[in-house]
Order: sequence, then C-alpha cells, then structure tokens
Amino acid sequence: MELLIKNGTIINADRTEKADIFIKNGKIAFIRANIDVHENVNLINAEGKFLIPGGIDPHVHMHLPVPGGFSSDDFYTGSRAAILGGTTTLLDFVTPHKSQSLIEALHQRKLEAEESITDYSFHVSPVDWHQGIEEEIAQCIEDGISSFKVYLAYLDTIGLNQEVFEKVLKTVGRLGGMVTAHCETGKEIEKKRTEYFNKGFTHPAYHPLSRPSETEANAVKSAIALAGKYNCPIYIVHVSTKESLKYIEQSKNAGQAVFAETCPQYLLLEDSMYQGSFEHTSPYVMSPPLRKKEDNEALWEALNSGLIDTVGTDHCPFTLSQKNQGIDDFRKIPNGAGGVEHRLELLYTCGVLTNKISLNKWVELCSTKPAELLRLKSKGKITVGMDADIVIWDPEPENVISSQTHHQNTDINIYEGFKTRGKADTVIKNARIFVEKGELATDVSNGSFLTR
Ligand SMILES: [Zn+2]
Repeated sequence: MELLIKNGTIINADRTEKADIFIKNGKIAFIRANIDVHENVNLINAEGKFLIPGGIDPHVHMHLPVPGGFSSDDFYTGSRAAILGGTTTLLDFVTPHKSQSLIEALHQRKLEAEESITDYSFHVSPVDWHQGIEEEIAQCIEDGISSFKVYLAYLDTIGLNQEVFEKVLKTVGRLGGMVTAHCETGKEIEKKRTEYFNKGFTHPAYHPLSRPSETEANAVKSAIALAGKYNCPIYIVHVSTKESLKYIEQSKNAGQAVFAETCPQYLLLEDSMYQGSFEHTSPYVMSPPLRKKEDNEALWEALNSGLIDTVGTDHCPFTLSQKNQGIDDFRKIPNGAGGVEHRLELLYTCGVLTNKISLNKWVELCSTKPAELLRLKSKGKITVGMDADIVIWDPEPENVISSQTHHQNTDINIYEGFKTRGKADTVIKNARIFVEKGELATDVSNGSFLTR
C-alpha cells in the first residue's frame, strides 16, 4: 500500500521542516514539498499537525513474573496501550531462572511476545554465572541482542554480586555489546528494609526511606567505575536522583561510554505521594522510589544538557489487589507502575509546552536516541529509507489522564488527574495505520522481533 502524508510539519531530533512524506513497501520512499497526489494512494492530510518518528520505549516489563503473579499488562494489552500513545517499538526484558540458558529463556520470551502489536526487542539479563554463559552471551549477540541488563538490587532473586557483575562487564565489553544497569546498592537496602519491618514499620512510606538517594548514587558510581575498568559501554536505567547525575557527568566528560535514562515519574512526581492511606500510596511503590522536587528539576536540566540520553517508562503495572499483597508489609508490595501509554503526552505537555525542552529534544529522547543506543538501525528518524513508523501528533486535544479511560490493564494510574494537551492522532507502523483519530484502527498482533 502507498501512503501520502501531506501538509504536516516533520520533527526530527536535528531539524524541523514542512514537507510531504511518501510511503511505499513499508518504508519512507521520499520526502519533499508538494508531492503530487496520484490515484490509488491513501492520502492523509496532516495540516496543523506534527509528524514524528514512532516512539521507542527502551524500558518496559510486560507479563513480568514477580513473587505472587505477573505484571498486569501482557504483550497484547501493553503494546495496545503503547501504540495508542504513539509508541511503536518496545524494549522488554528476558529474565531467566537461575542456571537457565539465556538462549532458552530468550526463545520462551519471544513466544510470549508474539501477541505484540508493536515491534519489540529485549535486553537479556544474566542472573548468575553458570557454565557456558559466555557462549550464550556471544550467541545472543549473534541473534541480534546487543544489550544485557544487570540488577545490582534484588540480591535475593535476580541481583548480581560484584564478582558476577564484573564477569558480565568483561564478557559483554569484549564481545562489543552494552550493559544496561539497575543501580541501587542491594545489600544496604535489604538491611534497611529488614530493620524497618522488625521495628513494626509496615507502611509504604518505608519503601522510599529504605532506598535513599545515596543507595542509587553509590551504585551508579561503582557501576560506572567497573564498566570503565572493563571498557564496556554502560547504560544506567531509570536515573531518579540528582546525586547520580554528578557521576554520570564526570564519566561523560572523561569520554567514557556512559548513557543514562530517566522516566516520566522521576520528572513529574515527588515522594510526598507516599503520605496517606495504603490504597493511595502503594501505587507509587517502585524502585527506585520517587524523590524530591529538586531531583525532578535536576533531571529536567539533565535532559537538555545531554547528561540524560533517553526517557523510558519502566512500564510495569499492577492492580490494586496485587498491591494489596503488601498491606501488612511494604516489602511485599509488587514494585512498579504503568506509563507506556502516556510518555509522549506527558513529555509534550510538561516539557515542550512549558519550554523545558524543544520539540526536537522531545523526539530525540523518546525515539531517536533510544534507536541509536539500542542499535535499531531503521527506526528513530523520519528520513528516506527508514521504516514507516510515523506518529501524526495533534497538538490541540486536551485530556485528563485516568484509570477509567486509559488502555493499560490496571485499575491504577499514577498520573490520575493529570491534564495533558496533545495526542497521537494517527499512528502508522510499517506503513500500516494502527491508530486513527486517536482510536485503535486495527489490533492485529503483527509486531516483529527486531534484531539489533
Ligand atoms: Zn525496569
């Protein structure tokens, strides 16, 4: 099918231009002013709208196994919410059981993701150091997985001790991949959690108190130092605090391959959300926890200065009844919240419209940089030859975010009541229209596994 998008304003990370886009065979065939309309072409008038590359969320957890269940979005419901919000590619995770082969776990995860509407890939997590794992990492890279996620928290389940972490850095660095790291000092946090609980403190407010800023910043500092030692590129996921930025800045200035991601919740929400009833506070139990206003502000600045490279969501929703598992013990509250649907509208409303970031920066953070760092070669830009993943963004519509109207599969929304402006009016993935006038036009699960 041929598609012609006329009269829109194209926003790329590096430039803004008014031009038409002609799409053929799933790709952007050419871009120029005043392309003639011919018969049999599907014409879209984008007058007054922005044309942006499809969003790429570098960090989501669909159907994530946790003690006592799974995160509440599966690949179908989660990717449906994503595409309605203008995101056409998702980076999820492969988390094997201890001693399970990475290849086998990757294979299983690919089967689960087959119902995805968006395209997808995975970061693969070594959770231990078993015999043959070096070959498995090499095989993953051959199969198109270039990033490996490590957890420095959650030591009793998937977290790595320093010895294994170093082995992962050494191997991935040698093979030309990148390590993505959840940075929190696991031991210290475990100790604080146990102390609070033993003193009878069970409320969600003890979740952030047991994970203070320095537990993230110290882990960031040591992860960067070790990555430097083994010459392995490192990508710090969900940076939440200004203390971490200091170490990111030093290492970037020194020319080390260090990259950083933050999420809308760390830009827009504060730790005052942990004051109140269990029902009102448990939705915000996520790791790292929400921080202070000055952290939000420092992170906004870091988006512009380039210290932060990408904005992902860490989408990992649970329902209120799932959160209730921790009603007597904050340690048992499943960690995580949804957000994959709202990333573009939140960054547009709270960033672009308040002049905190430019339109081009918005595109860079939400699509271009994730594509570049995660090696999605045919995504992240509106240029000739790229995949025809295009969002026609209407800057006008107003919305109030609510769990009553969102498409994420949960009865919680951490942005409940947020007023937004701007919306994904039309979403095209691989030249096919998935969203039209803000509504789902088709929900065919034809997402592809992307090799990177
Ligand atoms: Zn995560």
